[in-house]
Amino acid sequence: DAASPQKSFYYDDLEVIRAKGTQLHQKPTDYNNLAFGHVFSDHFVNVDWTVDDGWTKPKIEPLRELSIHPGAKVLHYAAELFEGLKAYRGVDGRIRMFRPDMNMERMRRTAARASLPDFDAEELIKIMVEMLRVDKEWVPNSDTASYYIRPTLIGTDPTLGVATSLAAKLFVIGGPVGPYYATGFKPVSLLADSRFVRAFPGGVGAYKMGCNYAPTIAINKNAAREHGCQQIMWLYGGDEEVTEVGTMNIFVLWKNEQGDLELVTPPLDLGLILPGVTRQSLLDLSREWNEVKVTEKSFTMGEVRKALKEGRLCQMFGAGTAAVVSPVGEIVHHHNGKFERLKIPTMDYKPNYMQKLYDAITDIHYGRAVKEGWTVE
Ligand code: PMP
Repeated sequence: DAASPQKSFYYDDLEVIRAKGTQLHQKPTDYNNLAFGHVFSDHFVNVDWTVDDGWTKPKIEPLRELSIHPGAKVLHYAAELFEGLKAYRGVDGRIRMFRPDMNMERMRRTAARASLPDFDAEELIKIMVEMLRVDKEWVPNSDTASYYIRPTLIGTDPTLGVATSLAAKLFVIGGPVGPYYATGFKPVSLLADSRFVRAFPGGVGAYKMGCNYAPTIAINKNAAREHGCQQIMWLYGGDEEVTEVGTMNIFVLWKNEQGDLELVTPPLDLGLILPGVTRQSLLDLSREWNEVKVTEKSFTMGEVRKALKEGRLCQMFGAGTAAVVSPVGEIVHHHNGKFERLKIPTMDYKPNYMQKLYDAITDIHYGRAVKEGWTVE
């Protein structure tokens, strides 16, 4: 009935206001040298929510600055969450999003944990498809570059006090991003130092909230400056469980103590790990291929060191939307009060299982292969 608040926004109510004149921006000419997240396309999705009325009608409108009250909860208590997914222009010219349903479900779970409003996932997918239609010229015509999509939800209630935000805004911005590996895989160096913690049981590591990311920046900067490391390998607990790497999930391929070739990634049940869409996709493919044993279980730095010493460690790589896979070439481990450099043979191991996973995923991205239900055109 008319008096009850709108439980979601709906694609059928979408209003599209097209950019014109100075609202239209120059598109990059060279997608190969595009820094991540620096260029945005001309339009964005914008929809508001209040506790009394629920969601307003969604709009796609020319990208512009937002106006926000300085008392808004997002600015004080980080009432914020986001998603990250990509659209790819395939070899057939069609544009596909990769498993957006998984990002939308993660976004809704995160919204519930952040006490921000829920919405219908299907409706937002349809609206994002429309945004891609309006800004289709911004999706690179390239089989290495892509268009990054950043749905965001913030608490806009202009009141101080740690409480549920009675107003919220959902927006989706996006823009072209260059290839991660213009010149082949680049192995990364990781700082593994258990004095720093990203997430802990009962915390919000399993949710994509902005508050998980800001505290990592200074640590990452120091790791780069003091140790020449590009990323942090996030450890947890006294036994130094390996949890994630930078903003990626982590996989190790090793010969386990029983002599089986095993692909291992930490489990989701402890709440320390962001349930990555790439992580799930690599697990799904590996289980389907059935070439190696596939296991979701915790493993520690001690086990990594032992496998390395015994020559059983084959590959280690991060997995995420940005790079798909990111080979680990070295770990700088803070161990017994000293920093030890451990060489990881990821790039030398044959057959290259990481490469096989990368090829399979990117083939689906660019329409060279089809996986039923994994893409939305
Ligand atoms: N872990 C963290 C902490 C992340 O921020 C991300 C990026 N969303 C991932 C893992 C990888 O997730 P996805 O494969 O969905 O990009």
